[in-house]
Amino acid sequence: MVSRRSFVKGVIGLAAAGTFAAGYAPVIEQIVKPTYTPIKPDPSIDEGAKFVYSTCLGCNVRCGIRAKVVEKDGVSVVERIEGNPYHPYNRVVDPSSQYSRLDPLPYTTPVRESLNYVGTLCARGQDGIHYLYDPYRIKSPLKRAGPRGSGKWKAISWEQLIKEIVEGGVIEETGEKIPGIKEIFTYGILKEAGIQDPNSILSGIKKDVDTIMQNAPKLTAEELKGEIEKFKEKWAKQLGEKGIKLDQILINPDMPDLGFRSNQLVFVRGRGQAHADYFYQRWTYAFGSVNWLRHTSACQLGFYCANRIWSGTTDINPDLKGAKVLIMAGAQIGRLHPGATGQGIIIERAAKGGLKVFYVNPVSPRGDCGGNFEWVPIKPGTDAALALAMIKWIIDNKRFNKTFLESPNEEAAKSKGEIVYTNATWLVITEKGHAREGTFLKASDVGLGDATKYVVYSEGLKVHTEVKEAELLYSGKVKLTSGEEVEVKTALKILY
Ligand code: SF4
Repeated sequence: MVSRRSFVKGVIGLAAAGTFAAGYAPVIEQIVKPTYTPIKPDPSIDEGAKFVYSTCLGCNVRCGIRAKVVEKDGVSVVERIEGNPYHPYNRVVDPSSQYSRLDPLPYTTPVRESLNYVGTLCARGQDGIHYLYDPYRIKSPLKRAGPRGSGKWKAISWEQLIKEIVEGGVIEETGEKIPGIKEIFTYGILKEAGIQDPNSILSGIKKDVDTIMQNAPKLTAEELKGEIEKFKEKWAKQLGEKGIKLDQILINPDMPDLGFRSNQLVFVRGRGQAHADYFYQRWTYAFGSVNWLRHTSACQLGFYCANRIWSGTTDINPDLKGAKVLIMAGAQIGRLHPGATGQGIIIERAAKGGLKVFYVNPVSPRGDCGGNFEWVPIKPGTDAALALAMIKWIIDNKRFNKTFLESPNEEAAKSKGEIVYTNATWLVITEKGHAREGTFLKASDVGLGDATKYVVYSEGLKVHTEVKEAELLYSGKVKLTSGEEVEVKTALKILY
């Protein structure tokens, strides 16, 4: 069996063996080299050309772009898309070295003068013109024109789309009836029945359901059923007076905690771009559904959660301009997301010798940037083992940030200039087979306080909020208020 220590050695050995002797020039050519570097102002501005600044949505980098728009036969046509030299991602191509980029232009630079400069932009971004003028670009809603899966579609107007989404429609070719969202718009159903203030009815129903669910743990199954029957009777009577049935309002009156029928609308969209998300979310909530999902409801969630834990905030961008060492795990340089413009700085700095990159990927980076790109060719699915091996090395060699880790609460962390604290010092019950094995020791377990506080070791057992630092690698036995003696370890010690 390979120990974690020898695993690390193996990984480093493999990385060295996998390093390419070849330079990175061909890749740099493809990624960093601009298609042209203007050395004098684009004269077309005096011939009526317009320069429009916008954002490329070709990938999640969201580069700044500058589109040149000219008039052709009375129609405005985008003739070229290039990097916006004012933009921090795209900066300015250094006319003296095609592989280098300067800082972005100061915002005070007049637009006319900015036409002396161009920012970098990847091939996909420059190819945005073809997205715009693609003859197959979908410009109107498409409605299915055959059985599901037949791949047959026909163009319809926006007016027809809205009407059929709201009121329902028919697939003419098959005769299928498709219901409209009007049928599940609970607020609208009440309003249409002549109820002046639907929200008072909806909040009344919700209040009753909440009360039933709060009391449910104390009730027998029969008692709970009785409570639900009383609830159904009350609201069926009230709504019945207006000609509305309870199952028009609730998903399932026998299981009222499933909520209103408006929750049967699920809005799923792709990646949130250009703040459209806020509009869609607001619309979905206004409809009465909590079921609003998007691409980042799954993708990137781990990234956000981990960032929040170590830094207190979610969206952290790496300091690619200032970093000395970069561990690039999972992302493929120059091939996939994020796009090449955002990654150009990595290659640029590595090629110049200012950045060492460890490229953790089963696929090689196709070059070594003069020895500054080191390939760590892990096998797919072993990323977690590699991360654990790195943690092991950090702990064995005491290369962790002790001051940061030993602060057991927010106040202690802030007094040392840290933004967040960790639970590295909190004690965990590790007694084999104990009912609480693997859970944090609470102050109430040892008679030091209530169950909302945890326990650390700092010259004896202490409540986690009462000390500025505690032992990081403690393990021992503690006596619970029940009289039992159990083994405990700090959270960090468990990683050993
Ligand atoms: S990297 Fe390329 S595709 Fe991505 S936003 Fe920038 S120009 Fe567009």
